Amino acid sequence: MSNTASRTQFHLKDYKAPAFWIDKVDLTIRLNEAQTQVVAESHVIFNDKDWSWPQVLELDGDQLKLLDLKINGKKWTQFEEKNGKLFISEIPQEFTIEITTQIDPTSNKSGEGIYKSNNLYCTQCESQGFRKITYFVDRPDNMAIYSTRIEAPKAQYPFLLSNGNLVAKGDLENGRHFANWEDPFKKPSYLFALVAGDLDVIEDSFKTKSGKNVKLQVFADRGRGHRCQHAMDSLKWSMKWDEERFNLEYDLDLFMIVAVDDFNFGAMENKGLNIYNSVAALADAKTADDNTHYKITAIVGHEYFHNWTGNRVTCRDWFQLSLKEGLTVYRDQEFTADLFSRTFQRIEDVTGLRDAQFSEDAGPNAHPVRPLSAYSVDNFYTSTIYEKGAELIRMMEVILGREGFAKGIAKYFELFDGQAVTTDDFVHAMETANNADLKQFRLWYSQAGTPIVDVRSEHDIKSGKYTLHFKQTLPNTPDMSDKKPMHIPIKLGLVGMNSKKDLIDSNTLIQLKQTEMSVSFDGITEAVVPSLLRDFSAPVNLNYEYSDEDLLFLKANDSNLFNRFEASFRLQVAAIKDFYNAEKSSGSPKDYTALFKALADNLEHASEDPLFVSSILSTPSWGTFEQDMKDIDPISLDKAIDGFKKAKATALEKELCETFEDFKPGLEDFKLTPDAIGKRRLAGSALVLLSMLDDNKYLDWAEEMFNHPMMAARTPALGAFLNSKDQRANTIVKKFFDEFKNDGVIINKALYIKSALSYGGFSATLNEIKSSPEYNAKNSNNVRSVWRGLCWDNLSEFHKTSGENYKLLGDAVLEADKFNAHLSAGLVSTFDNFKRLAEPHHSLIKTQLERIVKTEGISANVFELATNALK
Ligand code: ZN
Repeated sequence: MSNTASRTQFHLKDYKAPAFWIDKVDLTIRLNEAQTQVVAESHVIFNDKDWSWPQVLELDGDQLKLLDLKINGKKWTQFEEKNGKLFISEIPQEFTIEITTQIDPTSNKSGEGIYKSNNLYCTQCESQGFRKITYFVDRPDNMAIYSTRIEAPKAQYPFLLSNGNLVAKGDLENGRHFANWEDPFKKPSYLFALVAGDLDVIEDSFKTKSGKNVKLQVFADRGRGHRCQHAMDSLKWSMKWDEERFNLEYDLDLFMIVAVDDFNFGAMENKGLNIYNSVAALADAKTADDNTHYKITAIVGHEYFHNWTGNRVTCRDWFQLSLKEGLTVYRDQEFTADLFSRTFQRIEDVTGLRDAQFSEDAGPNAHPVRPLSAYSVDNFYTSTIYEKGAELIRMMEVILGREGFAKGIAKYFELFDGQAVTTDDFVHAMETANNADLKQFRLWYSQAGTPIVDVRSEHDIKSGKYTLHFKQTLPNTPDMSDKKPMHIPIKLGLVGMNSKKDLIDSNTLIQLKQTEMSVSFDGITEAVVPSLLRDFSAPVNLNYEYSDEDLLFLKANDSNLFNRFEASFRLQVAAIKDFYNAEKSSGSPKDYTALFKALADNLEHASEDPLFVSSILSTPSWGTFEQDMKDIDPISLDKAIDGFKKAKATALEKELCETFEDFKPGLEDFKLTPDAIGKRRLAGSALVLLSMLDDNKYLDWAEEMFNHPMMAARTPALGAFLNSKDQRANTIVKKFFDEFKNDGVIINKALYIKSALSYGGFSATLNEIKSSPEYNAKNSNNVRSVWRGLCWDNLSEFHKTSGENYKLLGDAVLEADKFNAHLSAGLVSTFDNFKRLAEPHHSLIKTQLERIVKTEGISANVFELATNALK
């Protein structure tokens, strides 16, 4: 794929509405393998508000073969095709244009436009895939009413689906049939969708609060209908939750979900016809663990919630992507928080944010939540746009209060329903509804980087005056220096060391707006430990000189459960850094008896809140260290994390054994309650930790769990075997692979595990995988799984000093880039933070990035990421 032509930067400041609008389009799509024909009849009107007459109509296109072009029914020859675009001249101000193109879905492996996945046709149009279907004003501010007629062979493709409502269907000649769909809502082209195939389907219905009956369908490949129920349940929970929490009701009579095996990301919110990656949709107790079930619920919620935040109100341009993504992530986080456990959800979200987004903010591709420029729109789909974007929404909720925030949301729809708008418009709705001033808050959208907040305290016990001094620093990022101070909401408490109680209102909120600020409290006559940034009320790095005793105190006594977790997290981070330094200097780490004893205390009371305790027990991951350390020796870091876990397992052996025995899954039914998930999670973590000890007994336990019928039991067993680095692991992983190699969904898990173990070295594993007939080198799930297993879960092997695995990843990037630039961009970003690594890793990765950048014809996506990384 030579995208070199598009290697120009585009800028937010250049935004201008298009010269022509298409407000109505009737599509006829004749599916016919490599010779699929698309007829698009569109109504076009000149945009006289922003442009002066005359103008040329400019339509986007990509890899299209133009067969015919008519204007107002007459053949038109006044046009030019250049760089994939169509320029049509000598046109009137309002007309109908009929464009016939031919496309080839069978050889389309890009995951965009219309393509085939197994034996079905499906689409992905966000962000710029519609231009692979027909010439169009393919940008989100162009909203139109769509009708779609699909024609295909009936026997092979009994289901023909598109957006909106089915209005007609029938038979055609030669064994073909058709279906006509009409979507009554205006939408941008990125929300168009089509599916044709022979599918399993499960059906249900939902009665909305105003009494409308909505038909619900979940489709999957034949033979997988029994794995659709969890997505269906999640959909119904989502519909109900959005009515209760935000008063938002579904607007069509039909809602469909289709799971496909070839998909570039999790899922897509096309109007009325959501398309999912099968790994993000299909689940039953036998094949999906707790984590998968949980994630599916969140994703189903996410895509469903887009119907309002994304579809009814959409983005003016792609720089505004966080308008819909940040808001919708916030909504799905709130949904699962209400459904499962608020504290657990917050811990998971903050952990994910710090691992992925804070690293991104500290790396070469740092960008603001509303970026100013880019080479590739695809590169906007980042954790900054999604997860940090969600934090911005959450901060507004904290600042305005839950009720004020709800008023703001109502105002947002009142002002902008049916329109394509900006993040500024969203903030404006919040301001208007609350009579608030969020001018300074808007800086969160335009300034990249994670703010640092340094806090110190002063206490005069005699007078009872306690003062906190805050200071914010905005670190430079590659795109910007000299930033302005931000508006940072900081929730806090003061916990009395004798009373073990909050001495000020537990909901105290401080709003830091200047560079420095001091706040005093009176009547504080006992010693306190400040509990700062409760619930992680702002996405910042907060420093306060806590002693270990302070943190142990908070961990045991803070009324804010999130901050209890935070205290134990801080203690563990410090411990791992100590293990790392010991590893590098061949010294020995300090004594962590007190920390381990504190963790043991939690385990004693685990059954009260197993989900929360499972979070406390978890160990900080690689990403935590990558973002704030320099000159990292990756192998020592990997050893340090393992060494710390082993010390934890040794110290807690007795409690872990009890935990495992108490909570290990039996043969009961699989239940998805917080209590059941929490207990399985605890038993699983205990097992994985115990497997680090040299005692065969624990691997026997793991084997017992591996033979369990439920995946929720088997996943930790696999984790235990990987951890143990024992001979037996090889047999187990092989067994697992053989069991699932013919399952298009679970094969991905099997591939991941194979790479994560890589018995005999990764290159041997890779060769073995590539030669197994079940592996599909063009399927992005397959490819991603192989590399994630290595890069996420087998770090010492990945970072081998020979550099051979860096070279293999470089090869994989270039190979994938030939057919799927999303896939290659995902792979190349693994190298993002190479500058933080010590030699020889630094130079070895640099060589790979340079090789990639120099390669003729690489995609704009990879070019942009790799060039930034090298800068
Ligand atoms: Zn989304």
